[in-house]
Amino acid sequence: MVTLTEKSHCKVCLKPLDAHLSTKPNETPEPGSVSICNYCGKISVFDKEMNLRPITDEEIKNVEKYHPVQWRMIKAIEKGIMIRNKLN
Ligand SMILES: [Zn+2]
Repeated sequence: MVTLTEKSHCKVCLKPLDAHLSTKPNETPEPGSVSICNYCGKISVFDKEMNLRPITDEEIKNVEKYHPVQWRMIKAIEKGIMIRNKLN
């Protein structure tokens, strides 16, 4: 897990994002990196200023096509967060 020096916020629930987990060790997010909010489960993308914005349909298609394993992991995490939030 990498601790982010500047906090970004989820555009849906407005909670701060202060850490980043990656599928690769010590990888830091960069513009275009996909992120999932641990609070609400919304999938976002880092923009050029490293702020989060909602992922577009075209970006979803690209991630599904070129990074199918990572996309399945993101969707599994999203589902887990949704289930956790329903139980709480
Ligand atoms: Zn959120």
